[in-house]
Amino acid sequence: MATQAGLSPAAGPLIALTDVTRSYAMAGVVHTVLSGVTLSIDSGEFAAIMGPSGSGKSTLLHLLGLLDRPSAGSYRFAGRETATLCDDDLSTLRNQALGFVFQSFYLIPYATALDNVLLPGLYSNAPRAALTRRAMELLDKVGLAAQAQHKPSQLSGGQQQRVAVARALINDPDCILADEPTGQLDSATSVEIMELLATINRDAGKTVIVVTHEAATAAYARRQILVHDGRVA
Ligand code: ADP
Ligand code: MG
Repeated sequence: MATQAGLSPAAGPLIALTDVTRSYAMAGVVHTVLSGVTLSIDSGEFAAIMGPSGSGKSTLLHLLGLLDRPSAGSYRFAGRETATLCDDDLSTLRNQALGFVFQSFYLIPYATALDNVLLPGLYSNAPRAALTRRAMELLDKVGLAAQAQHKPSQLSGGQQQRVAVARALINDPDCILADEPTGQLDSATSVEIMELLATINRDAGKTVIVVTHEAATAAYARRQILVHDGRVA
């Protein structure tokens, strides 16, 4: 829970964006990618962020995931204004409270499935043996206990994404953020990954936020958030 990150348990939404803008200056010209975004997501929600390519979905997910900061506006995570946090505090919060899943898996190619799952746990002070046990439990949960010693190249795309989901859970985060998690998978494998995320939402009570432009993927979520031209409908 968020208390792990040194936060007081918050009343109110897990995520609260108020009038958030993200713009980039390029060659002296300011490009506004997101503007006037006001959005709140409660703990335990399963939400899909949808919209056409280039609409600002990934930019929004990066802000939610504390990988990037708003250019203007407020982002409160678990009741705490993130603008007041220094980069180290943001990293700590990100590592403890959030888990990430990306379209291209981003596994370390020379590390085993087990080590890939373990790695984000090394930032905490948990003893190695306990971490190994937890990583094995997570691999078992995603159906890959037998592949723990396999390298990513020895796994199918769907299996690699399962490893990434297990890795996202290693620090027992409040919230899983996934950017087009089924974008490289066939439809049968996509169903497996979305069912896995649904289970994590339902059984473990994790907040799950999935960016997708596929209606079939978004249908797993209980709430659809539409992004269009940098605005949330
Ligand atoms: P989506 O994920 O919906 O396809 P993105 O959030 O990746 O869209 O991008 C939205 C817009 O923001 C695009 O026009 C993209 O070129 C622009 N953009 C994203 N990141 C940057 C950046 N670091 N610098 C400049 N422009 C960016
Ligand atoms: Mg994107």
